[in-house]
Amino acid sequence: MTEALYLDNPYLELVEATVTAVGTDGGLYVDRSIFYPQGGGQPGDCGSIEWGTGLRTNIKNTVYSPDRSSIILIPRGDQDLPQLGQTIIQHIDWARRHALMRMHTAMHLLSVVLPYPVTGGQVGIEEGRLDFDLPEGETVERVSANDAINALIRADHAVTTEWISDDELVANPTLVKTMKVKPPTGAGRVRLVRIGADIDLQPCGGTHVKSTGEIGEVHIAKIENKGRINRRVRLRFGPSAESA
Ligand SMILES: [Zn+2]
Repeated sequence: MTEALYLDNPYLELVEATVTAVGTDGGLYVDRSIFYPQGGGQPGDCGSIEWGTGLRTNIKNTVYSPDRSSIILIPRGDQDLPQLGQTIIQHIDWARRHALMRMHTAMHLLSVVLPYPVTGGQVGIEEGRLDFDLPEGETVERVSANDAINALIRADHAVTTEWISDDELVANPTLVKTMKVKPPTGAGRVRLVRIGADIDLQPCGGTHVKSTGEIGEVHIAKIENKGRINRRVRLRFGPSAESA
């Protein structure tokens, strides 16, 4: 079992932990992790670990164990690895993680501005995308959507988390916007991410910034047709080329 420290505090940049197992491929199972394991459209964290007498090993990715009970740090090849029971210090690649937190939070706001069923998504350090099923005949108005999302960012709404039981989620199915990325249930409780008082509320296990102002300006870079009613909307940081 790994304690997922990033859930309660996504701002931790380093923490001490213990190696609880070493996989045949060198994957390091840890008792606690500030590294986010890839999933839910968010990439796994990178960084390094420090151990022994000043040794440092680079971590290229983070994943869940197949049963999702443990988090595994994946080292880059050809490096010394700590043994079972070794105390390590995790150092996250914070610049990369913070960009992912900003873009991930922006994806929640995109789903507010475009209130349609989400069929997929991916968060990156420069770009994030969501796929929407639009009602027949509707189009995405890029300029008004850009204005709306940047207004939500500038208003600097608080981003907070709360927990509900699996049963409460089943009783409130409208909380789930992402049809193809079902929130993990079975653990007995599900984490909800709330923006403002009631701007957005949805189950999410990813990492987010603490208030929307931290995202900074964004713009819709591209809208692609992925089917008769499906639209892929790509969001990037910074002002749009047209308005710059
Ligand atoms: Zn989220």
